[in-house]
Amino acid sequence: MPRATVTPQVHKFGGASLADGGAIARAVSIIQAQRPAPLVIVVSALAGVTDALLDVAARATAGDADAARAGAAALRTRHAAAAESLLGQASRRKEALQAIDAVFAELDQIVAGLVIVRELTPRTTDYVAARGERLSARLVSAALEQAGCPVALVDALDVIHSDGKFGAASPNLALTDRRARQVLGPLLKRGTICVVPGFFAATPDGQLATMGRGGSDLTATLLGRALRAREVTLWKDVPGILTSDPRVVPDARVIPQLHLREAAELAYYGAKVLHPRALIPLAGRNLAIRIRPFADPAGRGTEISRRRTLRSHPVKALSAVGGQALLMVTGNGMLGVPGIAARTFAAVHDEGVSVSLISQASSEHSICFSVPQASAERARASLERTFKAEIGRREIDGIEVRSGIATLAVVGLGMAGTPGIAAKTFAALAGGSINVIAIAQGSSELNLSVVVDAKEMVAAQKLIHAAFQLDKLGGGAVSHAERTDVVLLGFGQIGRVLAGMIAKFKRAPLQLKVVGVIDRSGFVFDAEGLSPRKLAALSAAKLKGHPLAKAPGARRGSADEAVDYVARHALSNPVLVDITADDTSQTLTRALAAGMHLVLANKRPLTAHRKLYDELKAVAAERGRRLLHETTVGAGLPIIDTYYKLVESGDSVSMIEGCPSGTLGYLFGEMGRGKRFSEALRGAIAKGYPEPDPRDDLSGTDVARKALILGRLLGFPGEMADIEIESLVPVAARKLSRDDFVRRLEEYDAEWQKRVQDARAKGGVLRYRCTVTPRRIRVGLVAVNASSPLASLNGTDNQFIFTTQRYKTNPLVITGPGAGPAVTAGGILNDVLKLAGS
Ligand code: ADP
Ligand code: ASP
Ligand code: MG
Repeated sequence: MPRATVTPQVHKFGGASLADGGAIARAVSIIQAQRPAPLVIVVSALAGVTDALLDVAARATAGDADAARAGAAALRTRHAAAAESLLGQASRRKEALQAIDAVFAELDQIVAGLVIVRELTPRTTDYVAARGERLSARLVSAALEQAGCPVALVDALDVIHSDGKFGAASPNLALTDRRARQVLGPLLKRGTICVVPGFFAATPDGQLATMGRGGSDLTATLLGRALRAREVTLWKDVPGILTSDPRVVPDARVIPQLHLREAAELAYYGAKVLHPRALIPLAGRNLAIRIRPFADPAGRGTEISRRRTLRSHPVKALSAVGGQALLMVTGNGMLGVPGIAARTFAAVHDEGVSVSLISQASSEHSICFSVPQASAERARASLERTFKAEIGRREIDGIEVRSGIATLAVVGLGMAGTPGIAAKTFAALAGGSINVIAIAQGSSELNLSVVVDAKEMVAAQKLIHAAFQLDKLGGGAVSHAERTDVVLLGFGQIGRVLAGMIAKFKRAPLQLKVVGVIDRSGFVFDAEGLSPRKLAALSAAKLKGHPLAKAPGARRGSADEAVDYVARHALSNPVLVDITADDTSQTLTRALAAGMHLVLANKRPLTAHRKLYDELKAVAAERGRRLLHETTVGAGLPIIDTYYKLVESGDSVSMIEGCPSGTLGYLFGEMGRGKRFSEALRGAIAKGYPEPDPRDDLSGTDVARKALILGRLLGFPGEMADIEIESLVPVAARKLSRDDFVRRLEEYDAEWQKRVQDARAKGGVLRYRCTVTPRRIRVGLVAVNASSPLASLNGTDNQFIFTTQRYKTNPLVITGPGAGPAVTAGGILNDVLKLAGS
């Protein structure tokens, strides 16, 4: 087939997908899989590079030459590292490194100039920012060449033409159509892959102007239009366009198909997945866009086209813009006066402020509209000038500004003609006690916009998403959250070890981040994730005894307040890990209701009154959240997991016996080897084995709690009080303070020595054992025979013996380390990973 007759394909690779050399290599393999079709490849800057370049320029302009140079040097290193890892052949690598050096040598000169003149013009900003795309295009084309593909690196200034407005250039469609065909046509005809940097365009006099943040999407659709492609593919870091920003609504689903107009509403109202103007080039053309998952090239993604599908879902998606202010022009004199609205918007337009939502009550008593927070004061001043006379005559009361609001858009073509959409939206918000400040509905009825307080933005989206059952859209194809945000409730020894493990965790594509840590004093939270450095600093301060509330950026507050605060933020697949030893049932229920999964190392909520336990499970089931607590029984050992596996495979468990106390195991082991009780217990404390008060271990309470957790799995209906517990705490020691008790340990040495000797005389060893059946739980000291599996336990090892229908004569035994911060933290991490992968 002669190539010229085949429709060209345009593929754009987004910045979020292009992180490093490895990601570029992946892009290359995706591109190769599309050949031999004629291919145009548009690329964004590597992830975060545009922001970093803008930061370099800002610092230079502020006079901070060192910081600007350091920023530029870090970017140079990053691009050079990508080139080194990608380009095996020495000459090609050298050429790429030279090109990178040239780009940064020029940047250094610009920085030097900015440090002197201290003025950053929109033109220079664009010139600096665009090099991110230039660099990535160079890397991608070199990598394609290395893979043996015929490639041309095309300058965007030769093909994309605009009106020249720096920072927000609008494309000149006719000129771009023509030039793109002239330049790219012949190359494509020869079978050459054309690589074009996205984001920027030529001004009428041939300078460089960017088309606004995210503008590479627009570059791609412009080229698709010019070349009469049928489809433009945008490869992104998401599985497609989702029913909501997945960082806000964890239940968000991929929308298989969206109408152009729906996509336009979403993009315009803040869905940061598509550049709002990227759809303009589609006008009048038979051109579709497909958003596809970079991480899963086989995934279908989302088609944006003129079809109408999914008619059973009148509402398809939500989006939101925060950082806005509401302006209100009110007054009785406005009634019936023509031209007030026109003058209002002219006044705002004169200031170059864009208005996103307008609502006018039918009484014509007020006009209300939203603008970006940063432009609110300018807009107000302009309105006050415009209506000076009317305000003087009291026909207009004045101009009111309400800051800190967010606009939420509920979008779907099917909304027109489906009654009750607004009512359902408001009922959902009312159910969450969220106040609606203003509403607007476009006359197309494609979009219902609601203004709420910015603090309620996240909760509002979750409620509306649930009300319209958007988690069922598209047959329920689940969006896969690759990032899991972890909140640590409790920041003691185990919490700190766990934080360190999460900081070091690397297993692509899974990403774990600690976003918050909570202790009794308060909490530290950052929705973007607390850096390993910050976590290490917090750990060090805690270790010195400083409460979290004293840390920089911390907030005071109870655990409930902390959870409420966290829940107001957009998190990805949030998991709350309870590593306290407190009564946290209420806090946990709140976290579940806010959409968090739970991982518990804390036994109390599971051993609290049956009613609380049942409620916790019920809320989890109702919210579709999971509650994992493997470490509450055997620290790092898979006890609960084994139980479920047995039951799920049709077995039934009649009894679990065990020595589930690493502390007591360690103690008996040491005493068996001749150590005194006091010596052995102090050793255990130094190693971090016992509960904060070691009497919780000695009293059998801790073992009883583990036994009750197992018992409740088996169907034991009772409470802690129904367990027969033999305490090892001498009666006289029960009333002491924790510290007094530890100080006076020597007083109990003699009694313990006798117990150990008695057991030995009978040819056995001492063990503290629990026996759990659905009807009865016993916990106490036994002297076990040397032939029992329990006798062979070492150190802090735990042991569990399952008697089941299948394992009746030869029970199933699980033995292994059952205490210690590292083992427990490892077990918790395992539970977190089960949720991260789900
Ligand atoms: P690119 O890498 O192509 O520039 P963007 O970063 O512009 O991609 O767009 C993808 C991001 O958009 C995602 O990481 C996601 O957090 C965000 N996003 C916001 N709303 C949505 C939505 N409704 N569907 C998918 N992604 C969304
Ligand atoms: N790199 C530019 C930005 O970050 C353009 C783009 O990614 O589309 O805004
Ligand atoms: Mg983008």
